Amino acid sequence: MPNIGRIVAVSGSLITVTFKRPVVQNEVGYAMIDDLMLKAELIRVRGEYADLQVFEDTSGLFVGGQVEFTGEMLSVELGPGLLGQVVDGLQNPLFELAETSGYFLPRGRYLDPLDRERRWPFTPSAQVGDALQAGEALGSVPEGQFQHRVMVPFGLPGAWTLRELAAAGEYTVSDVVARLENERGEQRQVTMLQRWPVKVPIRAYRERLRPQEPLVTKVRIVDTLFPVARGGTSCIPGPFGAGKTVLQQLMSRHAEVDVVVVAACGERAGEVVETLREFPELTDPRTGRSLMERTVIVCNTSSMPVAAREASVYTAVTLAEYYRQMGLDVLLLADSTSRWAQALREVSGRLEEIPGEEAFPAYLESVVAAFYERGGLVRLHDGTHGSVTIAGTVSPAGGNLEEPVTQATLKVVGAFHGLSRARSDARRYPAIDPLDSWSHYPGVVSKADIAFARSLLHDGHEVDQMMKVVGEEGTGIEDFVRYLQAEYLDAAYLQQDAFDPVDGATGAERQTEVFGELVQMLRTPVALVDKDAARRFYQHLTQVTKEWNRCAWDSPEYQAARERLRGLQSEVGADA
Ligand code: ADP
Ligand code: MG
Repeated sequence: MPNIGRIVAVSGSLITVTFKRPVVQNEVGYAMIDDLMLKAELIRVRGEYADLQVFEDTSGLFVGGQVEFTGEMLSVELGPGLLGQVVDGLQNPLFELAETSGYFLPRGRYLDPLDRERRWPFTPSAQVGDALQAGEALGSVPEGQFQHRVMVPFGLPGAWTLRELAAAGEYTVSDVVARLENERGEQRQVTMLQRWPVKVPIRAYRERLRPQEPLVTKVRIVDTLFPVARGGTSCIPGPFGAGKTVLQQLMSRHAEVDVVVVAACGERAGEVVETLREFPELTDPRTGRSLMERTVIVCNTSSMPVAAREASVYTAVTLAEYYRQMGLDVLLLADSTSRWAQALREVSGRLEEIPGEEAFPAYLESVVAAFYERGGLVRLHDGTHGSVTIAGTVSPAGGNLEEPVTQATLKVVGAFHGLSRARSDARRYPAIDPLDSWSHYPGVVSKADIAFARSLLHDGHEVDQMMKVVGEEGTGIEDFVRYLQAEYLDAAYLQQDAFDPVDGATGAERQTEVFGELVQMLRTPVALVDKDAARRFYQHLTQVTKEWNRCAWDSPEYQAARERLRGLQSEVGADA
C-alpha cells in the first residue's frame, strides 16, 4: 500500500502535506494532478505536517490533492554510460529530452539517466567465494578511455561472500551480474546500476588521505603561485565577466585528471546554454577528440525551480565520488556556487526560517563546508587512490568578498584564486589577483622562488601606488626598476594566452624551468642607469619571453629563445 498524504497548503514550490504513516526527512514524494506526478523532496517535518519542495512548476496543485511518499531519498543512478552526458539537477538526460520533447521539459516527465537497452561487455575480475565489501570490484566494462569498475553496491553494510558472478559477456545495466550472501544468510543480487542518495557522501573506501600532491592545471599562475592539490578544494570568486567560466574551461581541458564533472548553475538561461554549446566543442588535448568523452555536465538555470537548482550540485558531487571509487582522479567544477546558495536562501525563506546574514540561512556555512568536504583523496580497498578535487566559483554582488557565501567558502577551501575587476579590465588574463590570492598546498616550484616572486609583485605594486602620487619623475631608478621587474613577471609569466595552443597550457616541468630561469634573472642585479633604458630593456625582455612561451616545449626554437633571453640579460648584467 502506498503511503499517501493530503495537500493542505501550496505556497510557490512549497507544499504542506498531512500524512498517516511515518515519513522521513529528504524522502521523495510525488504530488499528483490528474495523471501527472510531480517530483518533490521532503525538507521539513513539523508534527503532523510535512513540507515538500516541488522540483517543478506547481500550478494546478490544489488543497486536498494527493502526495505519494516513496520512502526513498533523492537519488542518482550510477553505472556505465554516465560519461558524455548532459543532465539537469534531477539527472534527466537533456539531449535525449531535447530529442523527445525539445529543451523544455514537460512537467512530470522524467527520463532514465542510463540506457536500459545498451549492452556492455563485462569482464569479471572477482572470484566466486571471495569475501567482499561495499565498493570492491566485481568486474569491469569499458567506458570511453576507462575501465568502468562494476562494484559491490555502496549501500551494502558488512562483509559479503560472492556466490555467483556472471561470465564474460554482454549485459545491460539491469541484468543481474552477481549474487552476494552475508553471514546471516541474506542474499543480494547485483546489477551494474545502483542508486545513491545525493546528499549522502559515498564512503566505500579504506581511508581519507591528506591532499598534498599538486594537481597540475597548466595555468601558470595557479600551479606556480597558488597551487591546487589532487583531492583539494579551491574557490574562484570574481565579479561578472572577470573570467571565472573561461578559467574553469581551461582547467577542465588541461588539468591532469581523468574525469571532469561540471555543475553549471547559471544566472541566466543564456549562460547555461553557452556552456552547453561551448563545452561539447572543446577538444581534449590528450586525445584530440571531444572533451565530453570524459565529462559529465549537470546544469540548471535560475528559471528552473529552486529545488532542482539546489539539488544539482549534490547530483554533480555524487557522480564525481562515483568515478573516484574506480581509482580515477576527478575534477568537479561548480559554476557558480552563488546561484546554488541563492537557491538555499529561497528555500529557507519559504520555510520562514530565522535568516542569517543577507537573508541566507543560518546554516549556510555548514552546508557549504559539507559540500567541499566531499572532495578529497582516498585510499580504496584495493590500495589504489582516487580523488575528487573541487573548484567552485563564487560571484559576489559588486565583487564584495565580505559577503556570506565567499566568507563561508574561504573558511573551508585550501586555495583562493581571487579574480580582480582591475585585472580583467586591463585584459590581464587569467585575472587572478597575485596579491590577494593564496594557497595552503605545495606547488611545483621551490618555496624560496615563490617567496621571491611574491615580494617582487608586492614591491612593484607599492611603487606603482607611489608613482600615482609622485609621478615617474619623483621615483628613484631602483624603485622604478623594481616596478618594471614586477610588471615583466606579470606580463611574461602570470598572464597566459588562453587561446594560444602552446601558451594556453604549461606543463609542470616547463613551469619549473621557465619560472626558475625568470627568477634567477630577476635576482641578478642589473646596471640600468636611466628609466628609458630600463623601460626599453624590460619591454624587450617581455617580448622575447612571450615568444618563448609560444615555442613548443623543448624544441630548438624553445632553446634558442632561452639563449636570446640570457644574451639580453648579460648585456645589462652588473657585478654589484
Ligand atoms: P565570468 O564567468 O566571470 O562572468 P567569463 O569567464 O565568461 O566571465 O569571461 C568573460 C569574457 O572575458 C570572456 O568571454 C572572454 O572574452 C574574456 N576572458 C576571460 N578570461 C579570459 C582569458 N583567460 N583569456 C582571454 N580572454 C578571457
Ligand atoms: Mg561565468
